[in-house]
This record gives sequence, structure tokens and C-alpha cells, in this order.
Amino acid sequence: MVRGRGWRVVFMACTVSCSGASSSDVTNPLGNPGGGSGATVPTGPVAPLIVGVMQADPLGYLEYTPGDAPLVIIAPHGGTLRPASLADRTCTGCETANDLETQALARLVVDRLHAATGARPHLVVNRLHRVKFDANRDVGEATGGTSALQAPWVWLHAAVDSAEAVVQRQHGRGLVIDLHGHAHTIARLELGYLLDGAVLRGTDSVLTTTAALDRSSVARLARDTRSGADRGVALLRGPRSLGTLLASGGFAAVPSAQDPAPRVEEPFFEGGYNTRRHGSLSGGILDAIQIEAPNVGVRDTEANRARFADVLTRSLRSFLATQYGWERAP
Ligand SMILES: [Zn+2]
Repeated sequence: MVRGRGWRVVFMACTVSCSGASSSDVTNPLGNPGGGSGATVPTGPVAPLIVGVMQADPLGYLEYTPGDAPLVIIAPHGGTLRPASLADRTCTGCETANDLETQALARLVVDRLHAATGARPHLVVNRLHRVKFDANRDVGEATGGTSALQAPWVWLHAAVDSAEAVVQRQHGRGLVIDLHGHAHTIARLELGYLLDGAVLRGTDSVLTTTAALDRSSVARLARDTRSGADRGVALLRGPRSLGTLLASGGFAAVPSAQDPAPRVEEPFFEGGYNTRRHGSLSGGILDAIQIEAPNVGVRDTEANRARFADVLTRSLRSFLATQYGWERAP
């Protein structure tokens, strides 16, 4: 077994949540200090990274639970911590409202996929309320100028990078889902690929001739998906796109075959900082899709969250199988 420099392997017994052979997966792709005797504060997750064993940043504001599926789920706006030691964000135009229950939804999807496949998605969670920290913005807007949050911001993205390194080694390719909630009047899922409503309103042939997918967060997948028929625009709103799968499962989604684009004047989130940074716009091995979920019927009750988590999990399994060739059964 050949591993790159700086990577360590530790073998340990599988205890609670780890799964199969991957329970021994341990990497330190960032070369961060590994705990030990040094006084240096880790700038990201440290070795050993163990499937299903959560790590928190030194201040306890963020957490990363390594997985072994080619899927990384981020919950950036569902935290509840409001430490008095941190100033409230007051930057001009800063959004401070939380996406209610998105953290719970993210955890549900991790559990569902683990139960269905025996493999766990990687999970990155922001525990802070958005009035303190926005985990889907560049460092200035994320922290609102609070210097004590700069290190957690670095840790957050180091966690996603750690997940990316594991996915690359285990699977070669994978997908990030950045999970949000919106308050728009139209109760449908909005899927963000970095393509705005005006672009999506173009016909398939216009999107093809203008190479719109090259400017998306799934740019690489649009070229190398295992499903040749889904290369290009079909990846957004073809029969095996994520939006179409979700809509077929009972959760209206745009873009999808059923609802190809938001109409003029209809609000639509096309994807934010995490989707841009961690997607394949610049050719990385991870593609990214932002999911903005409405409240009513999706996030508002335990029963609806469970129902949505089931459909999202099923849709993601189908998407990962078709587009990435990843299929697992427990
Ligand atoms: Zn959000």
C-alpha cells in the first residue's frame, strides 16, 4: 500500500459508528500538528482521522466527523451557540438569521445513508449561531471583523479539505452538499450550481453553446460523469439530475425536469461561498451543490424532516451511483 508523504496509518478496533474496512482510515492530509507535545494550535483536523469519530476545533465552535462515502455534507447555518465573548456580527448587509433545523437535517441524512449503505458521509457542522459567525462567507464577512473567529474559519475549510483528501484517496471523485434553508414564498428546493436564474432560463441549447456548465460548481462532473447521457445540461435538469430525483420523490425542486428554471422575478439562491470554494469550478475532485430547503413541509416538523431526509438520501444514492459509479449496500 503506497501512501504519500505525511500520511499516517493507525489501526484500531471498530467501536460505535465506523464501518467495514474503512474504520482504519487515518490521514493527515494537511500536515497539521498531530496533538503531541507541541504548543501549536491546530489549524485543522488532526490525525488520526477516524470514520465516525467527531473532532472539534480548539474553541469548540466547529466539528468534523470523517466518513468513508464520496459525499461531504456541510451545515453552515444551523448552529445555536452564542458565546457572550464573541461580538454579534454587525457588518453592513450581513445576514444573521439562522436556517432552522438544517443541522438536524444534515445529521439525519448522515445516519440514513450510513444505515442504507454501511458508509458514512463526511459531516462538517458550524455550531455557532449566524449572528456570531457565517460559515458560508469569505473570512471578513464570516467573522464580522472578530479576530478570534479567524482561526475557526480556517479550521472549517481545512475540515472540508481533509474530507476531500480522504474522498480522493478512497474514491477519486465525490460530491459536497451545502445544506441551507430559505424563507422564499415558493416552497420548493432551490439547487445552487453557481448558475443564476437568468442563466437557467436559457434553453438547453443556449446553455450548451455558452458553456454555462463550465462556470458551475459541477463543472468537472459535467464533463466526466459516468453517465455519458448526463454530460452537460442534463446534469442540471435531465431525468437523472438531483433536482429531478428530489421532485420525483415528492419535493418540488428547481432546476429539475419538472421545473427547469425560476421565472423572472422569482427569488432563487444560486450557491454561495462554500459551493464556489469547494466545488469543481476550478477543477477539484469535489463537485458541489447548494440545497436551499423551504421550511413548511421540509424542515418544520420532525415527521417532515424525517420524510425529506429519506428522499434526499435516496436521491443522493441514486445520483452517486449514476454519476460517480458509487454503489454500496450494507
Ligand atoms: Zn443558509
